Amino acid sequence: MAIERTFSIVKPDATRRNLTGAINALIEKSGLRIVAQKRIHMTKAQAETFYGVHKARPFFGSLVAFMTSGPVVVQVLEGENAVAKYREVMGATNPANAAPGTIRKEFAESIEANSAHGSDSLENAAIEIAFFFSGLEIVG
Ligand code: GDP
Repeated sequence: MAIERTFSIVKPDATRRNLTGAINALIEKSGLRIVAQKRIHMTKAQAETFYGVHKARPFFGSLVAFMTSGPVVVQVLEGENAVAKYREVMGATNPANAAPGTIRKEFAESIEANSAHGSDSLENAAIEIAFFFSGLEIVG
């Protein structure tokens, strides 16, 4: 297994309920390291570009409105098999289907307000990291 980097977002439903630290604790407990992190308020244009792959989906407008409804914490996570590992730590998209102990099972409010984003492939991780971070901001 290789050391990988993945991209994470602590979503607005979680920052609103002061859960950034609780989510970071689950990330660190899994062995992943937070090698970059910043709190931002995404613009509509940023959210539309970031979720561009979902443009045709019926929930696209609602998703963009949600992701711009409050601050988020964008992160780069590093570790063995980081992309797949963080998907496990997050749990299923719909919290009703997420395993106990996962971020989404413990904290998500709904299938949309599901507390965390994590890249779904190494290729997308690189694209998503570069969208929000410069190389100088990532300290491994
Ligand atoms: P993820 O990779 O597990 O985040 O899931 P997807 O890439 O399929 O979806 C991206 C995000 O869109 C999810 O994390 C949710 O915030 C939202 N989402 C996914 N499916 C639905 C849905 O059926 N309804 C709504 N309202 N939002 C959804």
